[in-house]
Amino acid sequence: MRVLIVHAHAEAKSFNAALTEQAIATLTSEGHEVRVSDLYQMRFDPISDRRNFTTVRDADFLKQQWEEDYATEHDGFTPELQAEIEKVEWCDVLIFQFPLWWFGLPAILKGWVDRVFAFKRVYGRGRLYENAAFAGKRALVSLTTGGIGTMYTATGLHGEMEKVLFPIHHGMLAFTGFTVLPPFLSYAVAHGSEADRAEQLRAWDARLRALETTEPLQWAPRFAEIDEAGQDRLPRFLVQGTFTAEPTGIERLKAQGIVQAAQLSEDRRQGWLTVRAADAEAARESVRTLPFLTEPCPVAVRMV
Ligand SMILES: Cc1cc2nc3c(=O)[nH]c(=O)nc-3n(C[C@H](O)[C@H](O)[C@H](O)COP(=O)(O)OP(=O)(O)OC[C@H]3O[C@@H](n4cnc5c(N)ncnc54)[C@H](O)[C@@H]3O)c2cc1C
Repeated sequence: MRVLIVHAHAEAKSFNAALTEQAIATLTSEGHEVRVSDLYQMRFDPISDRRNFTTVRDADFLKQQWEEDYATEHDGFTPELQAEIEKVEWCDVLIFQFPLWWFGLPAILKGWVDRVFAFKRVYGRGRLYENAAFAGKRALVSLTTGGIGTMYTATGLHGEMEKVLFPIHHGMLAFTGFTVLPPFLSYAVAHGSEADRAEQLRAWDARLRALETTEPLQWAPRFAEIDEAGQDRLPRFLVQGTFTAEPTGIERLKAQGIVQAAQLSEDRRQGWLTVRAADAEAARESVRTLPFLTEPCPVAVRMV
């Protein structure tokens, strides 16, 4: 496979740099081709304006997406940008390596996305999500944090990491066509021991070796499933029931976009699931693999 790592850390001795070095070593040893855009080393310019283009569609009024459209048609991206776009087009897998800054991408990497994921060349005019240019490619974010993992949970101070990453996962990567793999999270790297960090590098090595077989994240609805107002054509049902055992399959159903939300009682025996399905029977059927107590299971299904 061809892998592009976009690396966003200014310090060559940082843990982010160690993660990128590990990725290069692991992927190369697995026989993959690896290219790295080391944004600080390249002094990548994150500002998106007329300097993106060698062409001009409208000299009086800068409308970024119109200029991107025009540049796509007239081979008008500046060489620095053209090179980055071609690297993404070249790769099968895109990896973002960065420290979490203000719950998001460092500006240099956000600027890279702003400039490289150009209208018309990559997305737009009916080409969104699974129809966009990068469909068929995989993407994976590997990030480090200052905060500890328990802070990034539903009851934690910062809220769920899944929600923090949604703008990147869904709004940038899935939006432009990528199949998104679960993130690789290195929490509180500066606070742990050398041994913790060495273990984390080993875990990264293992994740990278499983790149081709890792189950991707999924979101519903897909672009093909919406109506003219951009709404999901499928309704939601509240499914309520009692479990005989720990309902471990819920996370998988969530990842598949079938269960949209789940609430469990403290003893994890009562469940209230919001299920996306065509009708009540389909909703019931789609959660049948869970260990519900009653037959027919689950107890109550109603549209919400
Ligand atoms: C502007 C800004 C905004 C921020 N916003 C957030 C936020 O929203 N949420 C949040 O949680 N955090 C936030 N942070 C904190 C930031 O995410 C962390 O500081 C960062 O993720 C730490 O990663 P690093 O690579 O810089 O660590 P470093 O400090 O570079 O490295 C950590 C340790 O790893 C060691 N190390 C390096 N290489 C290796 C190796 N090969 N093996 C073992 N150890 C090694 C280093 O020597 C160092 O001791 C923010 C920071 C800034 C500056």
